[in-house]
Amino acid sequence: MAGRTDFLASRRAVLGLAAGGLATAAALRRADAARTATKARIVIVGAGAAGTAMANRLVERLDGATITLVDGRAEHWYQPGLSLVAAGLRPASYTVSKTTDWLPQGVTLVPEAAAAIDPVAKTVATTSGKRLPYDFLIVAPGLVLDYAAIEGFSLDLIGRGGIGSLYAGPDYAAKTWAVASAFADKGGKGLFTRPATEMKCAGAPLKHTFLIEDIAGRSAGKGRYEITYAAHNDALFSVPIVSEKVRMLFQERGIKTVYSHVLKSVDPGRRIATFATPKGDQQMEYDYLHVIPPQRAPEVIRQSGLSWGDRWKDQGWVEVDQKTLRHRRFPEVFAIGDVAGVPKGKTAASVKWQVPVVEDHLVATIEGRQSSAAYDGYTSCPLITRVGRAMLVEFDYNNNLTPSFPGVIAPLEELWISWLMKEVALKATYNAMLRGRA
Ligand SMILES: Cc1cc2nc3c(=O)[nH]c(=O)nc-3n(C[C@H](O)[C@H](O)[C@H](O)COP(=O)(O)OP(=O)(O)OC[C@H]3O[C@@H](n4cnc5c(N)ncnc54)[C@H](O)[C@@H]3O)c2cc1C
Repeated sequence: MAGRTDFLASRRAVLGLAAGGLATAAALRRADAARTATKARIVIVGAGAAGTAMANRLVERLDGATITLVDGRAEHWYQPGLSLVAAGLRPASYTVSKTTDWLPQGVTLVPEAAAAIDPVAKTVATTSGKRLPYDFLIVAPGLVLDYAAIEGFSLDLIGRGGIGSLYAGPDYAAKTWAVASAFADKGGKGLFTRPATEMKCAGAPLKHTFLIEDIAGRSAGKGRYEITYAAHNDALFSVPIVSEKVRMLFQERGIKTVYSHVLKSVDPGRRIATFATPKGDQQMEYDYLHVIPPQRAPEVIRQSGLSWGDRWKDQGWVEVDQKTLRHRRFPEVFAIGDVAGVPKGKTAASVKWQVPVVEDHLVATIEGRQSSAAYDGYTSCPLITRVGRAMLVEFDYNNNLTPSFPGVIAPLEELWISWLMKEVALKATYNAMLRGRA
């Protein structure tokens, strides 16, 4: 297992890879290593960021394994790009590719959803009734957006009557921009929400707020709009120092904040959003409303017996050890990406650090050795604050800031270089990760 120093060196190498297409030292080391002979049957549920990266790495490490990916979605979505689409900075097509574009030789894709997982019988059943027995299972189906939990809301409202929701996918992110830009031109009351559940990229609700305020400031002009951010608890971000920095920036920019406000229902006809608060339901008017719904593990996971019993009861994240990402009751099962029940890490940046850890534990088990690889909770968020400015916030399970470029990129400063990381370098790095090369 690479130590912390190797991790940092490799993280820096990622920037080189993004800029110049160079292979990382880690990738070169893996190419040189002998492949392990095995007849293991490995099933990966989900061919998104985590499942695809995992498949690409395992084909390079194993010789003779049967690797099966299960995913019914033909499109791969580069989700970090959705924030740019919803601010008119990229077209929806920027975020869409084909799932099969990223798959290596030697992996079989079953183009169906997993319908049931039986961790005792060690099988996955697909929607058409195929039964896939496994020796190792990698659970990577991401999460589901529970729009039904918001009374009065339905996906067809996105892009009409001042309602946006960039999380719903590329086309919905483009529709979100249509209504957000109308608000930015005309002004009025903008209301920005986030759910009370765990969520992917907890920085994204803040980025959308900052970006639309920036654009409105130049279009409608200051004084013609009022923006309110509704935080689900008493903080703006889970890392206190980042939360305080965002609070100061919101104050400077005239963005109002209401705390402990969780969106409960929408009345699109009257343009009123109702929030559950400690003081009871509160209604707020809007001209533009950005909705991010509660997020949970997919139903197939919640029904599988793989979820935590006592934590995140309403959300169903998979019960894994937070360092090894191995299931605590079924040792041949691992969870990576958004579905993993760990305290932090629902980002693609986390996936990048989780996948090599799981790869090492899985291969070690096949080889009959112990692995000491451990995921430290690393996650990162290029927190866009304006068009052309971002803060590159990186942290771990303990809320320690873990800058990859100390002395070069200050984490809490709004910098053009951090914006470039999000706007240009991140996609190249993400693509390299999908190919198992970063
Ligand atoms: C608006 C937004 C902005 C973001 N910004 C950033 C950012 O700036 N930086 C960053 O690092 N991360 C960002 N993220 C988060 C990042 O995209 C996710 O954390 C990452 O994609 C998680 O990877 P995953 O493989 O777990 O899930 P996904 O990439 O979502 O893939 C899950 C896959 O599983 C499949 N699936 C679902 N159910 C089943 C089933 N039953 N059977 C089989 N397959 C199934 C899906 O079809 C999908 O292909 C952002 C996300 C959003 C929404």
